Amino acid sequence: MNHKQVTILGVPFIHTNQNDFVQLLKQRIESEQKTFVVTANPEIVMKANEDSNYMDTIKQANYIVADGIGVVKAAKILNQPLPERVTGYDTVMDLLNLANEHRYRIYLLGAKQEVLEKAVNKINTKYPNANIVGSHNGYFDWNHNQIAEEVASLQPDIVLVALGLPRQEQWIAQHIANFNKGIFIGVGGVFDALAGEVKRAPEIWQKLNLEWFYRLVKQPSRWKRMLVLPHFVMKIYGQKVKGRK
Ligand code: UDP
Repeated sequence: MNHKQVTILGVPFIHTNQNDFVQLLKQRIESEQKTFVVTANPEIVMKANEDSNYMDTIKQANYIVADGIGVVKAAKILNQPLPERVTGYDTVMDLLNLANEHRYRIYLLGAKQEVLEKAVNKINTKYPNANIVGSHNGYFDWNHNQIAEEVASLQPDIVLVALGLPRQEQWIAQHIANFNKGIFIGVGGVFDALAGEVKRAPEIWQKLNLEWFYRLVKQPSRWKRMLVLPHFVMKIYGQKVKGRK
C-alpha cells in the first residue's frame, strides 16, 4: 500500500479525503486486515511532540488522518496541502452506515457506563443491522486484560475506543498484537455525541470551519486545551523555515 503522506511536526498524515478513506477501511474490513487508525488534531500532534512515547504509539498506526481544520491549514502552510479533514466523528458515522449495510460486528470500549448505554441504544435504533457484539465502559483497571481477551474472542470488524487521548491510542497499541482482524480507532468524545451529551456544531458552523469555536462556547472548560493552538502555529512556521534551508 503506497499512500501519499504529509508529515506535520513529525506526524505522518495520510493524504486522503473522507470518502476515499472510508472506502479504504471498508476494503480492509472485507479483506480482514487488522488496522489501527489515529484521528489526529493539533492537540494530538503537540502531545506527540512533547512525549516521545506517545509519538511512538501513534506511529504504530496504519493510518493517521487529519482530524481538524488546524491540521489541514498547517499542511497548506507547509505547501503540502491535504484534501480535507477526515474527522473521527464522520468516520464513525460512515463506519456505522457500512455496518448497517453489511451487518458488521462492532465492539464499543469507553465512556461512562450510562453514556455507553445510551450510545449503544442509539446505534441499535439508528443502525438496526449493525451488530454490536460487546461493549465495556472506559473506567477499568488498566492491568485488567479481560477486555482485550473479550475483544480477541469476539472478533469484531470494528472496535471503537473512546478513552480520550492518550489512553485510547495506548490501549490499541498495547493490545493490537492479540487481535486477528478489525478496524481499531480512537474516537474521543464520539460516544458522548451519540448519547446526546455533547451536541455537534450546526452544519453551517462546520462549513465555516468554526466548529472549534462552537465547542469553546458550549464547553468553556475547553479553553485551556486551545492554548496549544498558537504554539502549534508557531511550530508549523518553524518547520516551514527549516524546510526551506
Ligand atoms: N474516558 C474514558 N476513560 C477515561 C478517560 C476518558 O472512558 O479514563 C472517556 C470519557 O468519558 C469520554 C471520552 O473518553 O467519553 C473522551 O474524553 P475527553 O473528552 O476527556 O477526551 P478527548 O476529548 O481528549 O479525546
